[in-house]
Amino acid sequence: MLSFFIALIIAFVIGMLVRGAIRKGKKSSTSNTATPPPQNPTAPSKPAAFCPQCGQPSSGDSAFCSSCGAKL
Ligand SMILES: [Zn+2]
Repeated sequence: MLSFFIALIIAFVIGMLVRGAIRKGKKSSTSNTATPPPQNPTAPSKPAAFCPQCGQPSSGDSAFCSSCGAKL
């Protein structure tokens, strides 16, 4: 009779542990879906432009190359 109670308590404890693990997993999954990581936070709005004359990278705002002065 005592062993039956011990088995019942062990089964109850295991059930609580499994339930807690499932709840914890659901909580972490929901938190991940709630706050998705931003994609390319440091990506520039404009692609890098290169001078067709000298090949130097220039900023997208400038209309002329800062290295050779060619029109971009
Ligand atoms: Zn240039």
